[in-house]
Amino acid sequence: SVRRRRAWRRVVRLLEELEEGCATPVGRLRQVVDAMAVEMHAGLASEGGSKLKMLLTYVHELPTGKEKGTYYALDLGGTNFRVLRVQLGGQRSAIIGHDLDRQPIPQNLMTSTSEELFDFIATLLKDFVEREEKGPITSQQESRELGFTFSFPVKQTSSSSGYLIKWTKGFAVEDMVGRDVSECLQQAISRKGLDMRVAVLINDTVGTLALGHYDDEDTVAAVIFGKGTNACYLERADAIIKCQGLLTTSGGMVVNMEWGNFWSSHLPRTSYDIDLDADSPNPNDQGFEKMISGMYLGDIVRRVILQMSQESDVFGPVSSKLHVPFILRTPLMAAMHEDDSPNLTEVARVLKDTLEIPDAPLNIRKLVVNICDVVTCRAARLAAAGIVGILKKIGRDGSGGIAGGKMKVGSKSKMMRRTVVAVEGGMYTNYTMFREYLNEAMEEILGEDVAPYVVIKTTEDGSGIGAALLAASHSASP
Ligand code: ADP
Repeated sequence: SVRRRRAWRRVVRLLEELEEGCATPVGRLRQVVDAMAVEMHAGLASEGGSKLKMLLTYVHELPTGKEKGTYYALDLGGTNFRVLRVQLGGQRSAIIGHDLDRQPIPQNLMTSTSEELFDFIATLLKDFVEREEKGPITSQQESRELGFTFSFPVKQTSSSSGYLIKWTKGFAVEDMVGRDVSECLQQAISRKGLDMRVAVLINDTVGTLALGHYDDEDTVAAVIFGKGTNACYLERADAIIKCQGLLTTSGGMVVNMEWGNFWSSHLPRTSYDIDLDADSPNPNDQGFEKMISGMYLGDIVRRVILQMSQESDVFGPVSSKLHVPFILRTPLMAAMHEDDSPNLTEVARVLKDTLEIPDAPLNIRKLVVNICDVVTCRAARLAAAGIVGILKKIGRDGSGGIAGGKMKVGSKSKMMRRTVVAVEGGMYTNYTMFREYLNEAMEEILGEDVAPYVVIKTTEDGSGIGAALLAASHSASP
């Protein structure tokens, strides 16, 4: 009927607007690359010089592969809380074994007191140690060494201490802000009577970089695409202007960018992003993260479907579920996006079970796949631009001459070095379309001459294993 056709035209128009609003042609991506590099400079030049905090980690050396012994690691910062025990054999890649215990963080602890949160953590840690060491206790170290991965913005005061700047990713334990994170954990560990020392305090990206570097020495940066997103990289100490006279034995330092908070006027932003931000507990914060990471993508899609449903009746009466924030989780969005059945049965199932939209006709199911595609394509391409921004900052994007292997760019002969970026997180490893769009955009931005020199390598459990590796390379024992 005429009415149905009009309703359909209305949603197609909304989809087109979404596509226009989310467009990321390569020219725009290059502007994002430049903006990222510029903001990195600004964040390194002065405290508060940029939305990028560019936090010092005091990690000067990355694991070499010579590390030996048994180390523990504790990983807090995403959906799950994890405890690991890693045995290192002293030869690169000879991680003899690691055991892992994974627990979801109870929702109430995410907004409780620091004492409750850390007592919970220390209890699990102690239980894990007791289980692990029940077997024959081999030449017990004097004290157990722990690497603590705490993936929130921390102002480090050394490689093993630092205070929380602010919470992200839905955590809000207010009395923690401004307090020393290691000390909170160390005290909780002592309260439980466990003999263990917090040897390093790091961010998950730093753990990923450590594991990446342990496996491949050309690894210079690490990026996480999970519930949140963040990146770190190896910077020259003398480029960290805000910390004049910073002396490091290696001449370098890992910098935790906190890139989730990156912002640039070149980022393509829609009304859905603006609303999502306004409704969030941290408006005007973590702008890049809100366009890219797993916590938010599904909710952008929900907002688009809600708008369409309100403006036309193609989805039937407006489902009350569409008003529930975060009801459409990103893995479900991915399942719809990647539904390759001819009738899009997976899309129908998610629409019915999660959003209570039954009997959506095929054209509507296709429309939903399109929405997911637009939102994820933008996310992945912006993520790629972010990575190239880092490479540009350290001269590894092929735009300057670097010592190493020879490469021909046009008529000029330039030096180009193999560069590895370690990547981790459920969005990249489990969401194939995100990964493919990201890889494709990397090639597009770098060009075919440079792209082969840039390798994206996924690591697994780097946030935990990397912490144990750094605990090993930073522990006092010779
Ligand atoms: P976290 O970031 O929570 O520590 P991960 O790095 O494993 O843990 O990432 C988990 C996040 O990855 C989830 O919050 C989710 O948003 C996203 N994710 C996991 N599986 C998928 C999937 N199949 N498709 C899309 N996103 C996924």
